[in-house]
Amino acid sequence: MNLARLISEIAAKYTDKPAIIFEGTTWTYRDFDRQVQHYAVALTHLGIKKGDRVAVQLPKCIEVLFWHFAILSIGAIALPLNPDYRPEEIVYFLTDSSSSLFITTRHLYSKVQSAVQHLSDLQILFNEETTAPQAEEFTEYATGGDDIAMICYTSGTTGRSKGAAISHRNLIANTQALHQAWAWSDRDILLHVLPLFHVHGLNVATLGCLHAGATMIMFEKFEPRRVWETLVSKHCTIFMGVPTIYQRLINEWANLEPKPDLAQMRVFISGSAPLSDQQFYQFEKLTGFRILERYGMTETGMNASNLITPEHRQAKSVGFPLSGVEIRIVNADGHDVDVSQVGEVWIRGANVFQGYWQMPEKTAEAFVDGWFRTGDLGFQDANDNNRLYLVGRAKELIITGGFNVYPKEVENVLESHESVKESAIIGLPDQDFGEKVVAAIALKDGMNISPEILIEHCKGRLASYKCPKQIFFVTELPRNAMGKIQKNILAQQVL
Ligand code: AMP
Repeated sequence: MNLARLISEIAAKYTDKPAIIFEGTTWTYRDFDRQVQHYAVALTHLGIKKGDRVAVQLPKCIEVLFWHFAILSIGAIALPLNPDYRPEEIVYFLTDSSSSLFITTRHLYSKVQSAVQHLSDLQILFNEETTAPQAEEFTEYATGGDDIAMICYTSGTTGRSKGAAISHRNLIANTQALHQAWAWSDRDILLHVLPLFHVHGLNVATLGCLHAGATMIMFEKFEPRRVWETLVSKHCTIFMGVPTIYQRLINEWANLEPKPDLAQMRVFISGSAPLSDQQFYQFEKLTGFRILERYGMTETGMNASNLITPEHRQAKSVGFPLSGVEIRIVNADGHDVDVSQVGEVWIRGANVFQGYWQMPEKTAEAFVDGWFRTGDLGFQDANDNNRLYLVGRAKELIITGGFNVYPKEVENVLESHESVKESAIIGLPDQDFGEKVVAAIALKDGMNISPEILIEHCKGRLASYKCPKQIFFVTELPRNAMGKIQKNILAQQVL
């Protein structure tokens, strides 16, 4: 059970069909598979063996995929790294994983060279200077389902990044569950604008497409106008984005004349961060499509999804557990909450990772009797087949004067005000209340409003303990590469 082997078998079925069109260059399934084989041979020539870690830090390019599947195909472990990581971060990832090989570019390497050159057991390879051997050579696929395929470092919005060790079985199970949930077929055409160093772009989008024998049009960068134009001109059927991407697509819509004819489109999918109800309804009003929201994380792949039937998609809800995934909502004592109450989301299933790399204590803390504690807070609606709603991260829960405040609830109220573009609620230390509710707000262009009016707006709609005691205006909220608001950075900014 090797994921790369599975993709190779699919490639053998689709041979001349375009698998990936990267910025205009077409790679058929045969081309793709051959390249993966060649890169696998290149890796074995470098002495890379089963279980070795290979870190790949590259800008988005087709070789990221060749390397990735080549690493998996020889049973080695891939470490996809964000090209934006700073030298200290790269050193941490390379040493924490004791990587044998670091594949990068000369340009990226020049930034980290002084920090990594002392790592004596590490080989460095520059992507642009690699010519994969063209000879057909047999590659051994001696990998079991429980072997680790990837180590993905969590985005670490709090504390030190942990390496989530994900097995071949985890990836295959999740890909199959998503295939069924989103009714993937070989007639699909996916427009791919996501980064390739994160599970969203690499596993959910790329794997989903290759596993279906579908075609993927890949852009290096996301540009809203180009997305709208391409969806139409290339008859795309699937698009995946994070909420920030959808917001920019919504903003661009006004500039489009004529409006895009999306007759071929099947589904727009969103995840990695909460989609606001405004985004959901506005997108539907403009395009006629209800965005399908799903919920996942690095450690588990995808957990839950709205249904492929549009009438079963609900704003603010992440839907229902995927096939093979079990969900519990648990209180602080580790017991299941009463129906429809908020608690921590716990997950069990073949999608759940094997543990944090070299961190047995962190792994032990993260699991209870085989259930993974996600750290996300949510509830299930008993009147709608236990549909799942998320209300925020457990670590972001604010306890003020003994009352629980879920940031998302307050953010939704603030964002319903006409002047507010976006908001983030954080808890700051307070002598009287333990923590106080504080809002950081980015206003829409040209808007000007006093904090008092916004606080009054909240008071009309929320219990007073939930209302912000203080409001800070910012031009932009700090976000990571996947569009997730970095509340730890925000707290430092406003403290
Ligand atoms: P990452 O490991 O970087 O993919 O982040 C995973 C976290 O993103 C989850 O634990 C959630 O907190 C958040 N997340 C992912 N999808 C959603 C969603 N649809 N709505 C709200 N939060 C989400």
